[in-house]
Amino acid sequence: VASSDGLVGAFERQPHPAPASTEEREAKMAKMLFGKDYSDYQAHATWTVEAGWHNKVIEPYGPFDMDPAAAVLHYGQEIFEGLKAYRHEDGSIWTFRPTYNAARLNHSGRRLAIPELSHEDFIASIVGLVRADSEWVPDVPGSSFYLRPFTFASEPFLGVRAAERYEYLVIGSPSGPYFEHGFQPINVWVEPTYHRAGPGGMGDAKTGGNYASSLLPKVKAHEGGYDEVLFLDAATDTNLDELGGMNVFVVMADGSLKTPKLTGNILPGCTRSSILQLLRTQGKPVSEETISLKWLLDGIASGAVAEMFACGTAAVVTSIGSLTGKDFHVEIPGSEVTKNLYDHLTAIQLGQVPDDFNWLY
Ligand code: PMP
Repeated sequence: VASSDGLVGAFERQPHPAPASTEEREAKMAKMLFGKDYSDYQAHATWTVEAGWHNKVIEPYGPFDMDPAAAVLHYGQEIFEGLKAYRHEDGSIWTFRPTYNAARLNHSGRRLAIPELSHEDFIASIVGLVRADSEWVPDVPGSSFYLRPFTFASEPFLGVRAAERYEYLVIGSPSGPYFEHGFQPINVWVEPTYHRAGPGGMGDAKTGGNYASSLLPKVKAHEGGYDEVLFLDAATDTNLDELGGMNVFVVMADGSLKTPKLTGNILPGCTRSSILQLLRTQGKPVSEETISLKWLLDGIASGAVAEMFACGTAAVVTSIGSLTGKDFHVEIPGSEVTKNLYDHLTAIQLGQVPDDFNWLY
């Protein structure tokens, strides 16, 4: 693997005693239960103070021994990433901006005092896993092979300090089209009580704690019949942050777009970054700024705001059809700009239009 790619930090593939049979794999691929079924292999490396990152392997997927005192189980020292591999029409397999994820993993790692992984090792782990599991990358339109890299503190130690041993893994799950019934707008609950992150916290790191804090509001929103939660900033409770797992954009009737600026409380999404680059290259006016809920609701009422959408790796771009809060409910009917962005971005990911930004790997 190393020499043919020129990849420095190659992960060595171990033999697999019992990979899924063709029938088993095809049965799972037919259902494509995202996040439930996993491929045959996983990438794995271990970090220790003495050896740094070592034991870099592509090994059979499966559980491994963990000490009950492992620090991650007590103090949540953990970071993760999410990206997809797409099969193009000619059968070749491509990931979308994997170095963005490599950089963000290290950005998250710095905040949680977790050792950095080189970009070469990150890419080699992805390439190694996708090669070993290439038959798990679906070719159904709109489907992909979801990749989940993550690093956690495995040192058995109950003292509260940065751990001295970590595991890095990548697992993969075939994932079907996100929208089973076509491009459908979501109904969003604007959360008045809970925040996912606050100033000086971990909001711009992709770490389990931020998702744990978003679960109760999400459960309540689902009970109320809403699809997703929009969180406001914890400092003033007046400005938009993001959804539990997606960034947000506002499309103005004059054709310009706005998205909340990165304050440190918001995850810097790869999709958000790609949309900003696409729009700027097209010469469309787009700004990253503080967006207050009051300004947004006034704009929707006056017609100055035409569309709103959420974006992230899972769904790419999702139209927001309504916003509901403690004392308001508004519909946002438009979705033309949103749909065009979705079509453009997915066409790049699927190799149907030229990859002008060199995003595909
Ligand atoms: N915000 C949060 C909180 C997320 O979990 C995600 C998904 N990673 C995003 C935004 C979107 O990021 P990306 O476009 O990189 O998937």
